[in-house]
Amino acid sequence: MAGERRYEGKAKVMLTTESADRLWMRFKDDATALDGKKRASITGKGALNTRITALLLGLVSAGGVPTHLRAQVDETTLEVDALEMMGIEVVLRNVLAGSLARRLGRPEGQVLPFPVVEFYLKDDALGDPMLAEDHVVALGLASVAEIAEIRRLTHRVNEILEDALVAHGITLVDFKLEFGRRNGQIVLGDEISPDTCRLWDTKTGEKMDKDRFRRDLGGLEEAYQEVLARLERS
Ligand code: ADP
Ligand code: UDP
Repeated sequence: MAGERRYEGKAKVMLTTESADRLWMRFKDDATALDGKKRASITGKGALNTRITALLLGLVSAGGVPTHLRAQVDETTLEVDALEMMGIEVVLRNVLAGSLARRLGRPEGQVLPFPVVEFYLKDDALGDPMLAEDHVVALGLASVAEIAEIRRLTHRVNEILEDALVAHGITLVDFKLEFGRRNGQIVLGDEISPDTCRLWDTKTGEKMDKDRFRRDLGGLEEAYQEVLARLERS
């Protein structure tokens, strides 16, 4: 039956539709950090992430990366192709920040000499442990050829997003993607939003992403609104 919850995660609910091939991805106002241990509800966040994800997945798709996006249904819902998700999170970093800075005991902000790609197991109970590429293959999460394709698509997403954001004075520090399979093809799923990217105002260095919540800086809704306003200015 249409409209049934197929899966409820921390930030979104996946609903069934009339077609087995399609899902509705509904964004919630919930904000979580520390693998779900820190929680809050931020009015308006769901609608902002819906708009931003629709816009950015649209750009990425126009740039040649296959994505699951089909249409925006309402303020907080996107219709997407149902994918067989791969159970991995793919992170690309342009600038040293977050968990990499913490793990290596280095300050945030160093521009990396090339974009660094990392793989994590999507498993909250284990705290999303980092995976070597050999682990991804050995655990049967993806083949060597699929990893190569995921890396190529992730670098392409980086180029497209950087192009779009630099024009609006936003530095793309890092981001997380989730890929799935559809008819044997690797397709970009999930969201691209300030919940899953680090975005710094290029002039002031101000954080315009979920670190405002993770680090109790306040002003999250205003920051996301500003990201959307700048992107819509193009
Ligand atoms: P989490 O599981 O991290 O708490 P969310 O609250 O973001 O995640 O819920 C969205 C869930 O839907 C995630 O598990 C994500 O992998 C999955 N997903 C995203 N896009 C698709 C898709 N097109 N088809 C099937 N599952 C998807
Ligand atoms: N990220 C995400 N979901 C996760 C982990 C990370 O969207 O479960 C994003 C995060 O917003 C950042 C990038 O991936 O843009 C790199 O995150 P990092 O490994 O630095 O972890 P964090 O500091 O967020 O714990």
